Amino acid sequence: ARFGIREFAEENKAEAVRIHFDRVAPKYDFMNSLLSFGIQHAWKRAAVRMLGVKPGDRVLDVCGGTGDLAILAARRSGPAGQVVIFDINLAMIQAGRHKIDPYPDLSHISYVQGNAEAITFPDNTFDCAMVGFGIRNVTHLKTGFSEMIRVLKPGGRLLCLEFSRPLNPVFRSLYDFYSFNIMPALGQLLAGSAESYACLPETIRMFPLPGELAAMLTDLGLRNVNWEAMTNGISVAHVGSKR
Ligand code: SAM
Repeated sequence: ARFGIREFAEENKAEAVRIHFDRVAPKYDFMNSLLSFGIQHAWKRAAVRMLGVKPGDRVLDVCGGTGDLAILAARRSGPAGQVVIFDINLAMIQAGRHKIDPYPDLSHISYVQGNAEAITFPDNTFDCAMVGFGIRNVTHLKTGFSEMIRVLKPGGRLLCLEFSRPLNPVFRSLYDFYSFNIMPALGQLLAGSAESYACLPETIRMFPLPGELAAMLTDLGLRNVNWEAMTNGISVAHVGSKR
């Protein structure tokens, strides 16, 4: 079946997301690096730095996919720490394992398959919880964040790295042209799927703006929520601590 996220009603969004990531998993890392001109790596490094993972920390990477954020966190937590990649899609987890397993210094990364809306860990388990370019896919955004906050220890820190809208209007027009026209064409050409990449700008537009997201996270139980716009706001990282 070749369905896109937009053809699905809300109750079927999870299924659409699963089909999408099944399709893109083998080429996920390559396509991200290409479509972002490699800038995604700088965003991820800056975001994990903001999160402030310390040696020995237990870290949860929700919607962790192929594990880029988990790798960065694992290097900071060291072998005394623990990093869990939590993702609904087995093909994405397997693509991540393939990349991570050869490195002995990353052997404290583990993998759990599950839904971000029902995280299978007890309350107050983790020092840090992070989600990178994933919460936009979760059907009920607030449920996903509440679950991340629930499994954080009091004082534990949450990171959300997500696409947003460029701040400068001229840059935004260029970016819109790129994401609505060029990106789906490249998706078709290189990954055989224009549809998968055509959904991206739509889901980004539906996502709360940075200030709104900061207010939502504060309402859900975080304090000191700060955010930083990256590459003129193409991506935004929010961090906050559990009250
Ligand atoms: N965090 C990784 C990164 O930054 O490269 C992967 C991001 S990828 C765009 C989104 C991931 O979210 C996919 O691996 C997908 O399987 C996962 N995902 C989508 N909906 C989910 C859900 N409800 N629960 C858990 N994982 C989910």
